[in-house]
Amino acid sequence: MKVFKDISEIRKWADTIRAERKSLGFVPTMGALHIAHAELIKTAEEKNDFVIVSIFVNPTQFGPGEDYDSYPENFEKDKELCKNTGVDAVFYPDISEMYPREYSTTVKVSDITETMCGKCRPGHFEGVATVVAKLFNIINPHRVYLGQKDYQQYRVIERMVGDLNFDLKLVMCPTVREKDGLAVSSRNQYLSEAGRCQAPCIYRELKECEKLIKKGIKEARLINEKIKSIIKENIPECKIDYAGVYDACSLKHVDIIKGNVVIATAVWVGKARLIDNIVIKIGD
Ligand code: AMP
Repeated sequence: MKVFKDISEIRKWADTIRAERKSLGFVPTMGALHIAHAELIKTAEEKNDFVIVSIFVNPTQFGPGEDYDSYPENFEKDKELCKNTGVDAVFYPDISEMYPREYSTTVKVSDITETMCGKCRPGHFEGVATVVAKLFNIINPHRVYLGQKDYQQYRVIERMVGDLNFDLKLVMCPTVREKDGLAVSSRNQYLSEAGRCQAPCIYRELKECEKLIKKGIKEARLINEKIKSIIKENIPECKIDYAGVYDACSLKHVDIIKGNVVIATAVWVGKARLIDNIVIKIGD
């Protein structure tokens, strides 16, 4: 397995693969790799001749006071996971490689970023879209694998790919969960013992709301109120950034539930901000 730190080097390697008419799958990450990342990698390997994983804790997607300084990092462990899952190349650039001093361009996706996490984390998706656009330009992959857990992130990148005509296919991979339903996340390690016991109620409640919607509840307000009150009841110390039903494409709040919707939440449990969602397709 190759490890590249320089843009010029990984670009040369990826160009060679494309020139040989082999396909290139790409899994962008911020490191602290876990079983969900391994699943993305395995899915990428099934469809592509070569797989690249990037590991870069992107400073521009963290707001002031967020966990940039404490974000978990363990490159040796990440390297092991990549090697063991059959990754062909890891791109592990330094900050100065990605953002040289004279850097002054950003990518701003509007509209779809004004709701959910975008509303609570100003500038976050500008940081995400910018670094992802850079990674796409550097690697030029055929297919890119992203997790449903970060549903809004997927939709933002999808919009950017369409708007800026990136020649690649995005693949959304299902959320990987712990046995008790909690979505696997690098940030779960911030949970206290009590928080870890309470956190699975988020997914349980998403499933309950899914059942109600499938039974025919149409008024989003009822679901929005229920999900917030049940989470509050089960995690008394939590702070809910948002929880409710949104249109699955535009991510706008819906009043009447129809078509495809996503029930999405972001909940602070102590120092951990947990996000989760379920997408529901409703027939006519
Ligand atoms: P991260 O390094 O956590 O920012 O995430 C890198 C990629 O892994 C993103 O596409 C995430 O959506 C995806 N990912 C992280 N956790 C999960 C999970 N539990 N299930 C599915 N995908 C995930």
